[in-house]
Amino acid sequence: MDLPPAGPSAAAARLWAGLDQPWQEAFRQAWEALRSGNIAVGACASTPDGEIVRSARNRVIDGEGPPGEIFGSALAHAETNVLARLPFRCHPDLVLTTTLEPCLQCAAAIRLGPVGAVRFAGPDRYWHGCHDFGKLSTREAQRTQPARIGPRRDELGTFATLISRFGPTLTPGFEKALRTLGEAPMVDLVHELEDCGEAERLAAMEVNEALGYLWPRLQELRELMPAS
Ligand SMILES: [Zn+2]
Repeated sequence: MDLPPAGPSAAAARLWAGLDQPWQEAFRQAWEALRSGNIAVGACASTPDGEIVRSARNRVIDGEGPPGEIFGSALAHAETNVLARLPFRCHPDLVLTTTLEPCLQCAAAIRLGPVGAVRFAGPDRYWHGCHDFGKLSTREAQRTQPARIGPRRDELGTFATLISRFGPTLTPGFEKALRTLGEAPMVDLVHELEDCGEAERLAAMEVNEALGYLWPRLQELRELMPAS
């Protein structure tokens, strides 16, 4: 008789199984972005009761993409691509689920889009505070902004930020900024995984398997990273 799985992979499997469909879809999209050499961020829009309306991933280096999405451009972010394909004034109360805290551009697209709430997994210290449009004008300050739910404090939140730092992201200037913001342990782990070929082996796994594989190191990272 097979024994039940124990240890890190069982904990990861439990966490993964407990995620709703929009969370799983956003992470599948992020993993496809990682595998295709893009920045590993994925997102989806769903109705308040969890029906997925549209999903998309980062496509900054892609030479093609689905009609209506941006690709091959610094603007080709996951959240922007989800929102770009939603009809004008559709479902004003959609939930936007994304693997990483939205950047300045995506926060603005979320503000303009039919989004009632945004959920994000990983903190992005680089873009902290860029969602607060109430500081820009008194009119914005009086308007109801999309609710923000995040970052996640569990291993999945750490995983989401970690994978977004793989591949083409870490230019010297960006890496320097991240180190200044307290992300040195995460950046060091990215280099370690990429330099020894582990990143390549990870990309061959499914995203939930990669979460299980990295679990012990995600737990260590959670201890080392500053609160966000
Ligand atoms: Zn963005």
